[in-house]
Amino acid sequence: MALEGHKFIFVLGGVMSGVGKGIASSSMGLLLQGRGYSVNLVKIDPYLNVDAGTMNPTEHGEVFVLKSGLETDQDMGNYERFLNRDLTSEDYMTSGMVYQSVINRERALEYAGKTVEAVPHVRDEILRRIYAAASHNGSEISVIEIGGTVGDFQNALFIEAARVLRLQHPKDVAYVMVTYLPTPGTLGEMKTKPTQTAVRELNSYGVQPDFIIARSNQAMDEKRKEKLAIWCNVQPDHIISAPDVESIYDVPLNFEQDNMGTLLLEQLSLPVTESTGLHDWRNFVQRIKNPEKEVSIGIVGKYFDTGDFVLSDAYLSVIEALKYSGAAIGVKPKIEWINAKDFTKENPVDIEMLRKYDGILVPGGFGETGIEGKIKAIQFARENKIPYFGLCYGMQLMVIEYARHILGIEDAHTTEINPGTPHPVVDVMPEQVALIEANNYGGTMRLGVYEEHVKEGTIAHEAYGKDVVEERHRHRYEINPEYVQQIADGGLVFSATSPDGILMEIAELPREEHPFFLGTQAHPELQARPLDPHPLFTAFLKAASERKSA
Ligand code: GLN
Repeated sequence: MALEGHKFIFVLGGVMSGVGKGIASSSMGLLLQGRGYSVNLVKIDPYLNVDAGTMNPTEHGEVFVLKSGLETDQDMGNYERFLNRDLTSEDYMTSGMVYQSVINRERALEYAGKTVEAVPHVRDEILRRIYAAASHNGSEISVIEIGGTVGDFQNALFIEAARVLRLQHPKDVAYVMVTYLPTPGTLGEMKTKPTQTAVRELNSYGVQPDFIIARSNQAMDEKRKEKLAIWCNVQPDHIISAPDVESIYDVPLNFEQDNMGTLLLEQLSLPVTESTGLHDWRNFVQRIKNPEKEVSIGIVGKYFDTGDFVLSDAYLSVIEALKYSGAAIGVKPKIEWINAKDFTKENPVDIEMLRKYDGILVPGGFGETGIEGKIKAIQFARENKIPYFGLCYGMQLMVIEYARHILGIEDAHTTEINPGTPHPVVDVMPEQVALIEANNYGGTMRLGVYEEHVKEGTIAHEAYGKDVVEERHRHRYEINPEYVQQIADGGLVFSATSPDGILMEIAELPREEHPFFLGTQAHPELQARPLDPHPLFTAFLKAASERKSA
């Protein structure tokens, strides 16, 4: 195998989930990249879904879409944002994918009559995928995050693969366990026992962690560190205290302060290089913390009535994209969530409440919930010249709003909601019809990166500064080509289209009419990066910032 000398860092969770394995993995990746190594990040999701596309965002957070079109969980988004580069389909796997490959192979008689079993066959398919991710892009180090917590049923085979990999490459593998040290209110003392138990559990798989990243609400003292070192059998300087921080972007800087870059390289028998590559990152963190002013952005969405689920998870990339563009122009976007249904319920909230925002954003979405409320909000933003930014559904609804209220096509609609509408301004493309009829919903939308041609003299062109751009997509419906001429004659500008001119990619009003009224069929938020903010988000925030000053 062309993997001579490739290094693997496995990141495993102990004690409980949700303590930041993804950010820890991203941060280690950034640290090593900052030391001149080429790093690749891989996420393993133990669930049986073949990809994250069929899951409601209230289940597992926002669905992230790779350039290739693969629908993944939001950790992949964090990885891309921290590393500032695109990842590929090989860098993501779920149990569903792994089992599907094994079962397909079994059906094709490729196991030559053998009994097909979890070990070795499923384990070896996991290893095959880990090697594929390591070799395809010429990276030197793979950081591989295994989802879930040690002790779960569903991630055991992945841990088994991680164990075997060290057997095959004794000097090339490190295990990092991310755990949590609780401080129960009644005791007021930070407890290490859950971490000790988690390490013992991991030991029972035959894996001994080389590092412990101990998350907690405050920094760990020396006494706790010594305790963990003795009981978990880990060098004291390999125990990294990771207290809660103001921003996730501080984490790599804190790790570096704890010398983690050097320690990881030593562990992997790699030359210890200087950390020279974090300069821009430090600047970015400074800028995010010291804005010159605040602008208020109202996000009109749904996913509000889902119990204790964290709303911000469903729109993670949008929130982060706003932060990056804000940092670039010295403004802090203060985000407020507006439940679209509030404008249409029995005793509706007065739409006038939207006037206090410097900008209004309608993000992507599916289905009927809240859409009339969103259309009302868009109309209000248009009529009152409040900067408006529509993402995907937010663009489709913006075109429907325009058709209804400016062109007088009162029953203009999307066939997603009203299949029988006499005016399907937003409609499904022929190739999607067959898929829907066959109930074939997984991975069948317009997904991944597509080229767009941007018209000169438009707000979009001014923002991008170029004629051809690439954006990522995730939708089934499009602006109906049969209505395009009529809408354009009515004053809405289609400022970007597919290269063949058939699909409308961006719609906007001319600046003389509205400071910023723009919607995009793509999801630009998926390509916004801390060190490379997205130009459309920046243009939107600039417009919002001007409204604030005015
Ligand atoms: N529901 C719309 C469609 O499928 C928009 C999707 C989205 O906003 N991602 O086309």
